[in-house]
Amino acid sequence: MTAMHTNPTLPLPPLPGPDAALFLDIDGTLLDLARRPELVVVPAELPGLLRQISASLDGALALVTGRDLPSVDGIGQGSRPFDGLSVAAEHGALIRQVGDAAPVGSLPEPLPAWRQAADDFGARHEKAVVEQKRFGIVLHVREAPEAADEARALIESFIPEGQGHFRAVPAHAAVELRPVMADKGRVLLRLMEGAPFAGRQPVFIGDDVTDEDGMAAARSLGGFGYHVGRDFGGETANVRAWLAEMAKRLTQRVA
Ligand SMILES: [Mg+2]
Repeated sequence: MTAMHTNPTLPLPPLPGPDAALFLDIDGTLLDLARRPELVVVPAELPGLLRQISASLDGALALVTGRDLPSVDGIGQGSRPFDGLSVAAEHGALIRQVGDAAPVGSLPEPLPAWRQAADDFGARHEKAVVEQKRFGIVLHVREAPEAADEARALIESFIPEGQGHFRAVPAHAAVELRPVMADKGRVLLRLMEGAPFAGRQPVFIGDDVTDEDGMAAARSLGGFGYHVGRDFGGETANVRAWLAEMAKRLTQRVA
């Protein structure tokens, strides 16, 4: 059991009821950030908690992440802690519900020449990490800060002036190429159009700039967008404690 560092004086957001649809970012929201994405630690109680809430909401819970699906499945050193949950990966470019992964609409994929140029960049900078996703490319320069400018210039060079299919998204110690149409707000709106999400009140929780789209989309449908820093005291443990309280409340309703 992981200790909950909940600050009792911090008012957490009101708990969603049984008519909610829950959209949760993973890194920095459910899990503490790690130096490298594969090093994140999953608290033992979290997977069961999420599955319990998902069941109480008739499956209306989705993880919404910038990670690609293999990276999501690789969390927890092969224990696949999020199996059985819906996942919107690559900022919503891919949705996996009940075991099927389907791209959202027809999104463009990076050209082979771009992938090659990115790999060449990785070969030039041993400490940089090149992440090839299906719909994007990320150049991580946390361990190679001297290559940051080159990384940004390279990603931007893939996007010709006035061609709006991809955008360059700067992140902390990384720069990412991804389709303009892949964002966490669009995927929330898309999921809310179908079962089991349609007709529910969306609640989106995230910690980063890319999550603001999801929060805004939830609010646009009469729901709520919560930010880990602003609404949960900056602590993923507070998010998990809040989810545990929500699970308890939902179970009591059923009982
Ligand atoms: Mg995050």
